[in-house]
Amino acid sequence: MPTTPAFAAQSASTPLAPFSITRRDPGPRDVQIEITHCGVCHTDIHFVKNEWGFTVYPCVPGHEIVGRVTKVGNQVQGFKAGDRVGVGCLVDSCRTCPDCKDNLENYCVNMTMTYNSPDKFNSGPHTFGGYSSSITVDKDFVLRVSETLDPAGAAPLLCAGITTYSPLRYFEVRKGSRVGVVGLGGLGHMAVKLASAMGAEVTMFTTSPGKAEDARRLGAHHVVISKDSDAVTKAANTLDLLINTVAAPHDLNPFINTLRRDGTMCLVGAPDKPHPPIEVFPLIFRRRAVSGSLIGGLRETQEMLDFCADHAITADVEVIPIQKINEAYARMLKSDVKYRFVIDMASLKG
Ligand SMILES: [Zn+2]
Ligand SMILES: [Zn+2]
Repeated sequence: MPTTPAFAAQSASTPLAPFSITRRDPGPRDVQIEITHCGVCHTDIHFVKNEWGFTVYPCVPGHEIVGRVTKVGNQVQGFKAGDRVGVGCLVDSCRTCPDCKDNLENYCVNMTMTYNSPDKFNSGPHTFGGYSSSITVDKDFVLRVSETLDPAGAAPLLCAGITTYSPLRYFEVRKGSRVGVVGLGGLGHMAVKLASAMGAEVTMFTTSPGKAEDARRLGAHHVVISKDSDAVTKAANTLDLLINTVAAPHDLNPFINTLRRDGTMCLVGAPDKPHPPIEVFPLIFRRRAVSGSLIGGLRETQEMLDFCADHAITADVEVIPIQKINEAYARMLKSDVKYRFVIDMASLKG
């Protein structure tokens, strides 16, 4: 089996460092990919530091992968060497459960995550992610990425993009919909771009007055400073859908009150501790809902990538060599990035 240079964490307390992994030889259904770019998601930090308690080491994170096909198996159609492709958070699922049958592999309880999942293909103790030079993936979990998109800016679409696109589509956002976005980070900036491209009137809720101008540049029509309770109160009963991207516990009640009758707040940020309790009356009296959403299925992820190509949408990124990854994590914890770090994987060979 081919060995591949990578960056791995060996324990919750050690920084990421060079490490060599093996990838399987491509089987008949496999696509072998040379990784050119990998986005850096907050989930990567949670896993590296074992903040959710189930990391297996060594841990090679990365699930916002863009690269070029180097080889395909003899049963693979639709991909050939040289094609630009992407891999997101999943590399396999059971394929037989109701969720898989509905093209919602992201809700399959037996999905194989791109990293930190048991490796059915037995090329390693568990799956290794995109902080590496190459990856071999079953054809059904490989996505096409348009040549018209900047590959670095396209990488975060594979997690941040689909995580926000999927609820916008599920809740049928269209021209004239009124959509709020809470939190202007990796997820939030994608939600603003996607919702405004769908024709929605977008309201950005941010704690940082300094981000107001940037939110407008990204496509927000209104900006509400969420620390200003009067301003939040003024936005009551205005929104059809609120995408809440904040991954820290916070009071959801003022945001629920910004929803119109039948409006929904969809949570896509995953805090490690619960939010404060939700008041019931504001839900009952306006038939409002609080919901959640996890990435998206493969079919929808391809639809999102095609939508982004049609609308020339990519993430705002800061490209780094992999040697700067530990520094990048430290900066992410201070929200010091606009709005996603992306690793230029050529740096791994250098
Ligand atoms: Zn992610
Ligand atoms: Zn399944």
